[in-house]
Order: sequence, then C-alpha cells, then structure tokens
Amino acid sequence: MPRLGVLGWPVAHSRSPAMHNAALRALGMEGWRYQALPVPEELFAETTRALGQAGFVGANVTIPHKRAALALAEQSSEAARAIGAANTLTFAPDGTIAAENTDAPGLIAALDCLVGLPAHPSALVLGAGGSARAVVWALREAGASEISIWNRTPDRAATLARELGVRTAREPGGADLLVNCTSVGLERSGSPRSREHVGVERSASEPEGLNQLGLTFDQVGEYSYVVDLVYRSGATPLLAAAREHGARTLDGLEILVAQGALSFELWTGREAPLEVMRRAAREPQGADGEDSA
Ligand code: NAP
Repeated sequence: MPRLGVLGWPVAHSRSPAMHNAALRALGMEGWRYQALPVPEELFAETTRALGQAGFVGANVTIPHKRAALALAEQSSEAARAIGAANTLTFAPDGTIAAENTDAPGLIAALDCLVGLPAHPSALVLGAGGSARAVVWALREAGASEISIWNRTPDRAATLARELGVRTAREPGGADLLVNCTSVGLERSGSPRSREHVGVERSASEPEGLNQLGLTFDQVGEYSYVVDLVYRSGATPLLAAAREHGARTLDGLEILVAQGALSFELWTGREAPLEVMRRAAREPQGADGEDSA
C-alpha cells in the first residue's frame, strides 16, 4: 500500500492529512493513504531514513524539520538548496531520498488568485524565519520589483535581507503586497478567543494582533493585496483588517493547498484536484477523523 505523510512536531493540528486523503479518494487511488507522522527532532533522521522501507512514497515536512530534511536528502532541487529548507521528500525504491521545496512555487501559484496584482509588485514581508525565507526567495524569482523585510528582531531581518539581496524596513511601509510570515495571528488553544472570530486591534497600544506586526488598523489600508501564511479558523487580525479596507486577500489555507497540490503531483504524477483539496482543508478540524494522529 503506497503511503504518504507529514513529518512534524507537533503535527496533530495539520490539515494536510485531510486534504491529501480527500484528493486520493477523489482520484480513486484506493490503497494510498496519507498520515500525520509526529516525530521529535532527535528521532527525525532515523525515522525518515526508514520511511522508504516502510512503504512510504513521499512525505511533507513541517516545523521544526525543514532544514534537517534538506540536510538528510541525497538529492535536492535548486530551489530547496537556495531556500535552505525542504517541505517535500520523495523516497525512491533504492532508498534514495530527494528533497524539494513546494512552499515557494505554491505561494507563486496562489498569488494568481489575487486578481489585478501587478506583474512586478513591490512587497513587504513580515518575519524572518523559515517561511519568510521561502517567500522572499519566491517573490524575487517571480520578479517582484522591490522587496523589504520587517521583523520583530531586526538582526534576523538584516541577515535574511543580506543573504537574499533585498532590503530591510525599520518599520512597515507601503507596498503593493503585504505577506505575513510571522506566527502572529495563530489562535491560542484553550483561550475562549480561539473559538470565535478575533476582532481587529484598532489601538496602537494594544499588545496583540496587528500591533505585534508593527501595524495599526489604518496602516493596513496602505496595502491593496494582503497574504497571511497563518492558518486558523476565522480570519486572522491582519486579514480581518485588510478585508475591512477592501484589500484582496489570501489566507494560509490557500497557501497550504497550493504547496500541497504541488507535492501531490510530484509523488503521484496525477493532476491534483484543487477544489477537493481546498474543501477538505477548510472543513472543521477532526470532521473526517484524519487529524488526530
Ligand atoms: P519561524 O521560522 O519560527 O519564524 C517565526 C517568525 O515569527 C519570526 O520572524 C518571529 O520573529 C516571528 N514572531 C513570532 N512571534 C512573534 C510575535 N509575538 N510578534 C512578532 N513576531 C513574532 O516560523 P515559520 O516556519 O516561518 O512559520 C511562520 C508562520 O507561518 C507559522 O504560523 C506557520 O504555521 C505559518 N506557515 C504556514 C504555511 C502555509 O502553508 N500556510 C507554510 C509555512 C508556514 P523573531 O525573529 O523576532 O522571533
């Protein structure tokens, strides 16, 4: 039975099993199965090397293993090497592991949904972690006219900007496109706010939401196109504000679907059923019992 999965720690929250299993079912790929693979850092290399023997054709990789996945693979794409991280592994019958990064082309594919986005937009990227690195690289490859990085810890923004040949922003300034690559906006489990729509922070003194991104509600209005990589039930504070200003937006689930579709096509050689994957990713968590691994 061909197997697929997502390696992460923790990984129980992942929408990938629901999304990929729905795609496999829709294409009649009986016997294929995609599962969550919760693996702590100290067991990542050993577990991943054993996956091919255990019948795995491929695996997605999420926090905190993306760099380790690239280091482990015998083969890697130019994109994965340039970004320094892999989110997709393929296991060949001879035991060879190949690493790819579909986060970056997934973002570019998803940007097509932003009708009217200029061909060479200026962009502000918030964050300087792993996903910011993939996003800056992708925007640069896609021909963005000017890219700036803002981060809570300015030194990390400076390092990333230097490595990828873009600018830093001391504070968020105007651009065509704003992409949030920080984890700000994730709902806190156990909090009553996690079960309901989180309102827009309007006060610059509020220590949450937008303000953690160095933005006020009014400043969000300076961006016509806003993307938030964070995915959660309901809009993030950033997307809620952007929509109130009339911006075109993309949420983290759209990005997840876009990168997942590219991984799916790599492993199966079949065209990914995008609409099926989108619907499954947006179903309430646990609805199909796939997410409780
Ligand atoms: P990461 O490498 O850990 O980076 C986290 C970033 O968030 C850093 O820039 C960090 O700033 C910033 N940050 C964290 N807490 C903050 C706060 N309270 N205020 C301001 N900035 C804060 O994580 P990552 O891999 O880049 O992922 C970032 C987010 O994107 C996560 O929520 C992840 O789930 C999401 N993501 C989604 C997709 C998708 O397919 N939709 C794909 C990848 C990632 P400092 O440097 O100052 O610590």
